[in-house]
Amino acid sequence: MHELGLCTSIVEAVEQRAGERPVARVTVRVGWLHHVHPEDFEQSFQVAALGTVAEDAGAELVLLPVLARCRACGASIESDDVPMACPTCGAVDVALVGGDELVLESIEYRA
Ligand SMILES: [Zn+2]
Repeated sequence: MHELGLCTSIVEAVEQRAGERPVARVTVRVGWLHHVHPEDFEQSFQVAALGTVAEDAGAELVLLPVLARCRACGASIESDDVPMACPTCGAVDVALVGGDELVLESIEYRA
């Protein structure tokens, strides 16, 4: 289950930002290419956060679609996996521009 490794990285980032402040909730933006399952993510986050300031914090996962741009015609392509060819012109010269994000978007602290 690779979500645990991913969540460990996220918890480390949360600890760096939060310092000693107890965390109520975090929002994480993850590109589809990480193939994260929301339920596994939630569980893995709880495990990774044990004993840290993020223990008992809620984790909200925002999944981002895979985005690519066709170098031949300039079309933007949104998909749930890496596109092999441009659906507009058929060219295979497609550059990935999004979908591999892993961003700690926000942290809410306990009052
Ligand atoms: Zn194209």
